[in-house]
Amino acid sequence: MVITFPENTEDTIDAIREAIGRNITFVTVSSIACTASGCGLDPTTNTGINSFCVTCSGLYWIPTYSNYSVKAHITWGNADVLNWVTGGQLIDGDCRVQVKYTPELLAELESTEYVTIDDKDFEIKSKIYRGVPELNRVLIDLIERE
Ligand SMILES: [Zn+2]
Repeated sequence: MVITFPENTEDTIDAIREAIGRNITFVTVSSIACTASGCGLDPTTNTGINSFCVTCSGLYWIPTYSNYSVKAHITWGNADVLNWVTGGQLIDGDCRVQVKYTPELLAELESTEYVTIDDKDFEIKSKIYRGVPELNRVLIDLIERE
């Protein structure tokens, strides 16, 4: 007996995500080196040699933030528990998003500082890669930032 796995699962999953998904934003941080004159890297401390540098405040590495938006299927944790408060709904707890597995996404995940969904910031708790026969999606568990 030969068992053949359906070949179009990725297309189906992509289509569902496209239909019911919403955009979420990965905020990534990368460091650029300070290029001010009189500044440089102290390899022992990994900070600047000039602690009074006005460009980097002596840190040498200057964080730069960038946004990367992708469509995600979003599910709220705790069985979608929503606490009703005076101002409306308050999302209480965790969130899981499912996004397409792409080389670009994997690269972004490496330097993701936090994820923004509906103006709320979340930290990545765990990543699970899914898909057969090839990986085609990533489940990301998020927890709201304090
Ligand atoms: Zn500097």
